[in-house]
This record gives sequence, C-alpha cells and structure tokens, in this order.
Amino acid sequence: MRQLIDPFGRKIEYLRISVTDRCDLRCSYCMSEDVEFLPRQDILSFEEIIRVAKSFAQLGVKRIRITGGEPLMRKKLPELIATIKAIEGIEEVVLTTNGTLLTQYAEPLYEAGLSRLNISLDTLNSEKFLTLTRRDRLHAVLAGIAEAKKYPFESIKINTVAMRGMNDDEVVSLTDFAIENGLDITFIEEMPLGEVGYDRSVTFLPSDEVKAMIAEKYSLLETDYKTGGPATYSRVANTTSRVGFISPHSHNFCGDCNRVRMTSVGCLLLCLGNEESQDLRTPLRQGCSDDQLTDHLINALKLKPEKHEFDLAEEVQILRFMSNTGG
Ligand code: SAM
Ligand code: SF4
Repeated sequence: MRQLIDPFGRKIEYLRISVTDRCDLRCSYCMSEDVEFLPRQDILSFEEIIRVAKSFAQLGVKRIRITGGEPLMRKKLPELIATIKAIEGIEEVVLTTNGTLLTQYAEPLYEAGLSRLNISLDTLNSEKFLTLTRRDRLHAVLAGIAEAKKYPFESIKINTVAMRGMNDDEVVSLTDFAIENGLDITFIEEMPLGEVGYDRSVTFLPSDEVKAMIAEKYSLLETDYKTGGPATYSRVANTTSRVGFISPHSHNFCGDCNRVRMTSVGCLLLCLGNEESQDLRTPLRQGCSDDQLTDHLINALKLKPEKHEFDLAEEVQILRFMSNTGG
C-alpha cells in the first residue's frame, strides 16, 4: 500500500477536514465581527469531500476530524459523517463544534457513528461569553452539552482556549464543570492565526500556569493517554475526567505530528503554523482520476515543514484565521 510519509519520516494518519468557514459565533481570537464568508460555490461539496477522504484512507489515514467554521452550519452533516465512517480503513470520525446546535444534532450525530465530540467552551459566565464570542448563546451551548451527554459517545471533551485577563479566573471552575459532568477538558494556548485587533502576547497564558492552577485543587496523575492529536493528558485523581493541554508555544509538539488539514475550499495545509499548501479543488473540479488525486496528496506531503514557528512577539505571521484553517 502507498503511504503518506513526509520528508522527516512522519507517517500521516490523521486528517482534519473543515466543511465550512461559516459560523454562528464570532469568537474574538478566531474571526473578526465583520468577517466576510466565502461564496458557497467555492466550498467543497459533500461528494468532493468524500472523494478526498477515500483517497486519504487508501493512503493509510485512519482518523478524520470534522471541523470548521462551525461544522453543524452545514446541513445534513450527520449524513456526511456516516458516509465517511463507512469508508474502508477509517477507524473513527470525530467532531469539533461550538455546541450551539447540539440540542438538534446530538442524536443524529451519534446514530451516524460519530465516535468522539469536542465542544468548545471558554467561559461559564454569560456576559463574558457574549464578550468573547460576540453572541449571547451560552445557554444554547450548555443545553447542547446536556443533550450530548444522553448518548454514549466514546468521549465528550470540552476545549478551552486559555487567555490571561479573559478566562484565567475560570480555569478551576471550568475544570469543576467538566468533572461534575463526567467530561474531559483540554486547555489550548492561543495561536497567532489572523489579525484579531488585540495583542495576543498580552493574553498568552502558558499551559504550565494553567496546570499549576488546577493542581492547587486537584491531584493530577500523569498518563500516556493520546487521542491522535497534539494534547498531553493528566488524569484527575478520584474522578473519571482527564485534563489535557495543547501547548504550541511552550512545548513544541511537531516531532510526532501525524496530521494534515483540508480547508473548506479544498486547500490542503501541511502545517497549522505554516502557509505551505496544495490546492485540491482545481484538480477535483477538472475531473482528475483517482490515481491523479492520490499523486497530488503524495506530492503535497513533500511540502510538510519540520515544525511550526509561532512567535508572539512578531507581527501576525499566519494571515489565515483558525475558522478558515479548521481548528
Ligand atoms: N466552531 C467549532 C468550535 O469552535 O469548536 C470548530 C472550529 S474552531 C476553529 C476549532 C477550535 O479552534 C476551537 O476549540 C477554538 O477554540 C480553537 N481556536 C480558534 N482560534 C484559535 C486560536 N487563535 N488559537 C487557539 N485555538 C483557537
Ligand atoms: Fe466559530 Fe469556532 Fe471560530 Fe468560535 S472558534 S468563531 S465557534 S469557528
């Protein structure tokens, strides 16, 4: 079998697919209030996404994460997930969502075979939620989490971007919330993707500080648990919850990177912190054969850099927003 191995010997087994750039929230670290969304015809159709997913699966990709923008803005997402899950070689399909539409979609997502669910939540305070996301939707997210808990997903995880002066005072209460609900929680260091109108070096909060805050209340036990992504996890003693940390700045995780991303317009990104990319939409729409598509993927891998180079002290280096990239 042909495989996806990059110039540094890393085997690619994990694909993140952004299915839309649209979103019902406007998180300040992710997009601007007056963001202009892409014309619909530029976005890959489900058929195009499925072709790419099949091609990746034939090259050894086993795990696919669906993300966005807000992936549940895409109607019939559960149908896409069921089709991808049925592709030979795909072991799991997971979803990252802001949770606002889960009251409607948790059941169909479970029925579609979704394995794991990551729900983003940066605050439990509705005023702060409004400030951070520019939308008054905390109640919808909390209702969505409650609905998702009714279905036996392999795991439901809260994703929190930790920011000094924004939600550092809620690190422990968010951890309490995860534990009380029997969920895992991962704290993410903010990444310098796109110009957001504030200085990210001021809000930067290193994972070690977040961990120390939690360790004041809970005993954290080291584990080697991995989900295929960049997070490292600790188990919270005497609970069923794990706390994860994604630390692109403080602990570079590129050495074992097994991931690539495809944007909603079919642009294959080889690294989150790098502009190298390969357009797949043009060959797809020009009617390329399956073999030609496979060749495009294998050739693109030659562009994968050894590591990302985030530097908060510098001007914005990566011009695309996370909503375009697919977090
Ligand atoms: N809309 C969905 C959501 O919010 O979960 C999926 C897409 S969102 C881009 C995926 C993840 O990226 C979210 O957990 C979000 O908090 C995170 N994210 C967005 N911008 C980020 C940034 N600049 N640094 C770190 N994480 C970011
Ligand atoms: Fe939307 Fe997710 Fe970006 Fe927030 S982080 S604006 S929910 S895409």
